[in-house]
Amino acid sequence: MCTPNALDVIKTTYGIGKKALDIAKQLNNVELKEAILDLKEEIIALREENIALKEQLNQKQRYNMEFIDNYYWDIKEDGTKVGPFCPACWDGDEKAVRMQEGAFGTLCPVCHIKTTKKG
Ligand SMILES: [Zn+2]
Repeated sequence: MCTPNALDVIKTTYGIGKKALDIAKQLNNVELKEAILDLKEEIIALREENIALKEQLNQKQRYNMEFIDNYYWDIKEDGTKVGPFCPACWDGDEKAVRMQEGAFGTLCPVCHIKTTKKG
């Protein structure tokens, strides 16, 4: 997995940026200071993206999804099926969203996809 390494790289780069900013302050170089501040902002954005991606990866590893009868089901080690989960949300953002039973079928509370149950 490359995610922890990416975070280490970001931390190291952030540290280098901070040192460079201190040097730029000592030299009183305004352009260099601004460039380094831009760099720091970029690093913060990358760090946030990295955290979001790790969360997404954890989410995916937490489930053992199988597509059965137009829904996703989380198949546990003992074979029990948990669900159904919304196929649009799982295929799109890999969000595990439970479908809710309604009077006229099954509804996803997030993307509002509506289906009628098979069989
Ligand atoms: Zn959905």
